[in-house]
Amino acid sequence: MSHVFPTYNRLEIELVSGKGTEVQDQNGTSYLDFISGIAVCNLGHSPSVVKEAVEEQMSKLWHVSNLFSITKQEEAATLLASASGLDAVFFCNSGAEANEAAIKLAKKHTGKTKILTFKQSFHGRTFATMSATGQEKIHSGFGPLLPTFEYLPYNDESALSKVKGEDVAAIMLEVIQGEGGVNPGTLSFLQAVEAKCREMNALLIIDEVQTGAGRSGLPFAYQHYSLDPDIVTVAKGIGSGFPVGAMLGKEALIPTFSPGTHGSTFGGNPLAMAAAKATMETIFDEGFLQDVQRKSVYFINKLNDQLIENPIVKEVKGIGFMIGISFHKEVKDIITELRDNGLLALPAGTHVVRLLPPLTVTDEELDRALHILISTINQHQSAEVY
Ligand SMILES: *Cc1c(COP(=O)(O)O)cnc(C)c1O
Repeated sequence: MSHVFPTYNRLEIELVSGKGTEVQDQNGTSYLDFISGIAVCNLGHSPSVVKEAVEEQMSKLWHVSNLFSITKQEEAATLLASASGLDAVFFCNSGAEANEAAIKLAKKHTGKTKILTFKQSFHGRTFATMSATGQEKIHSGFGPLLPTFEYLPYNDESALSKVKGEDVAAIMLEVIQGEGGVNPGTLSFLQAVEAKCREMNALLIIDEVQTGAGRSGLPFAYQHYSLDPDIVTVAKGIGSGFPVGAMLGKEALIPTFSPGTHGSTFGGNPLAMAAAKATMETIFDEGFLQDVQRKSVYFINKLNDQLIENPIVKEVKGIGFMIGISFHKEVKDIITELRDNGLLALPAGTHVVRLLPPLTVTDEELDRALHILISTINQHQSAEVY
């Protein structure tokens, strides 16, 4: 028997090597990896800039306590601050931990107790972030949940306008819901959320754990909507696979997280910061992100052109390289067939194929992926029952 808890439904495939967009399994079969470890390997597999930075740090010093000065942590924080316009960073080791920090900071800073989140959201698996997540299947068996959170329907301005707003410390949301089905927020909804926060004197927390680190074609997805968040959380893509999470906040919040209020043993250690710094220096470069946008527009347009006629396809949605193809039927079989044809893709919910290629994907790889996607999907047509 396996000695690992079966919290994941694992495939029998083991990926044993990878470079850039391509990975190989234990039998030597190659795949184009459009999962990227779930938006983690934004620079592809084994990126040499990150490898060199980590190797260099590894030969000097791996870990020291946050009771000491850590120059690389200051430098990584400066990269995040200048890419976001926010002022201070707390480093941790995962997306859930970044959201935990955000929840604690918002409550302590405002002195209020409620945080509003949205249905179909995903904020993590710790107790607080699971409670923040607006999906019953994730809560099942773990109640009673924290009383902190109330869930509103996403993209619903009229429900938002009815919120009384007493005792609300913050509204927390993803600008594009990832696990919930690649659901982009509309501009007017997101701006209404920000206005509601100002009206209630509550903080706006944006969870960019999946959408950050250049995934959307800008450093952070909220920048597409000209939002002005008080707190932003990131993780997945900022360490290229080294576990790094971060919470970013505005200057006014700095005194609230004074010595002793929050902490993490591993968070921001020199090895993690070497990985984060090298990753962010590459991704937050304007030319790099412009190329991501160019490739994404090409890819999304081709998908739209060639799938639009297919009656089982509902729509192609998303931004940058966070793309969902939604179907009028469940996508389980399509995901398997794509894999058999050499393309790794993820479901998001039951009816959406989610594509998260490395941001470094080449034009030639995009064309190969398009060919696989279109020929696989177009084998499913109206003749089927759906
Ligand atoms: C993955 C994810 C998280 C949780 O991150 P972990 O590193 O798994 O804790 C939180 N929020 C969003 C939007 C995510 O996609």
